Amino acid sequence: MAKITLDNLAHSYSPNPSCEDDFALKELNHDWMDGEAYALLGASGCGKSTLLNIISGLLHPSQGRILFDDQDVTNAPTASRNIAQVFQFPVVYDTMTVRDNLAFPLRNRSASPDYIAGRVNQIARMIGLEDVLNRKARGLTADAKQKISLGRGMVREDVNALLFDEPLTVIDPHMKWELRTQLKSLHHEFGHTMIYVTHDQTEALTFADKVVVMYDGRVVQIGTPQELFERPAHTFVGYFIGSPGMNLFDAEIDGTTARIAGATVQLDGGYAPSGGKIQIGVRPEFVKLTTSETGVPASIKRIEDVGRHKIIRLDVAGHEVSAIAGEDDSISQDAQRITFDRGGINVYVDDWRIARKGEAA
Ligand code: ADP
Ligand code: MG
Repeated sequence: MAKITLDNLAHSYSPNPSCEDDFALKELNHDWMDGEAYALLGASGCGKSTLLNIISGLLHPSQGRILFDDQDVTNAPTASRNIAQVFQFPVVYDTMTVRDNLAFPLRNRSASPDYIAGRVNQIARMIGLEDVLNRKARGLTADAKQKISLGRGMVREDVNALLFDEPLTVIDPHMKWELRTQLKSLHHEFGHTMIYVTHDQTEALTFADKVVVMYDGRVVQIGTPQELFERPAHTFVGYFIGSPGMNLFDAEIDGTTARIAGATVQLDGGYAPSGGKIQIGVRPEFVKLTTSETGVPASIKRIEDVGRHKIIRLDVAGHEVSAIAGEDDSISQDAQRITFDRGGINVYVDDWRIARKGEAA
């Protein structure tokens, strides 16, 4: 296991990048701490696989260095980096049995036959392949083959890191949850450094201690699920995480108050934004309907009952805004304004969150 350092890293697929847009991965400095489980979350095309392939050595970065435990491996070949990587689609030896597929990485490293037999059985049990250990991989379903790939990724205990690139894409939805739980328990048991790539926020938030959110080639926030919920560093994080995502309001700010759609909203402290597009972000959980005369004017468009709670869709100055109400809350059709829980308000300038005065950065 190792700490993985990305130092001034960036990558462009074009041989002569001339501007930032030419970079699939924009400049990045980050330490992946030894033994932590990370999720790398972002929409399709934002650069997740590019980053993962640079760490494993499948791709050479156009700029910067990669260090494992402070040792420069930027020019080291994949094999010598001692990393297990599992891809979106199965990579298995069709003519080998499941058992031999699972044993392969261990035999490659000359592990003892006793150890191999025990370890292969253990992994097969974890991923539910015990009954097919003696079958050839060829005849198995895509689902089962992907489980073999996962098993091969997990079988070695001595790797520097485990990298998973959307590994559950072809797996049956029922099985997804179970496999994710297995990966998590594997992490608890062996404490590998793990990076798990996904575009699914639920997968990311349930798997990882820390979630790394990418947007358009850039890491926009690294935080615990709670931090991403309470203090989204970028409007993309607010929108991408949460269901529904964070509401954004155009605003003018004067010290401790904001003007939104003609109404005055009290903030949780003083702000001094300079220049740029100023917006207030409030998650639907912190928006409340009110029949009182103070608050931001809003009209109810519709109410969606999603079982656990209700989602109220509102119109505020021509923009759709969502509020979440409890399943048993009665919603007054007379409500014509909304208010916000002060602690749930974040302030953005050109999509980046700014701190209030005195707040620790
Ligand atoms: P993700 O894994 O988040 O879906 P990728 O890392 O695969 O994103 O891709 C990031 C960007 O780089 C995308 O715009 C993609 O089209 C581009 N890209 C990926 N692989 C190549 C390649 N081999 N050559 C040129 N462009 C690529
Ligand atoms: Mg990808």
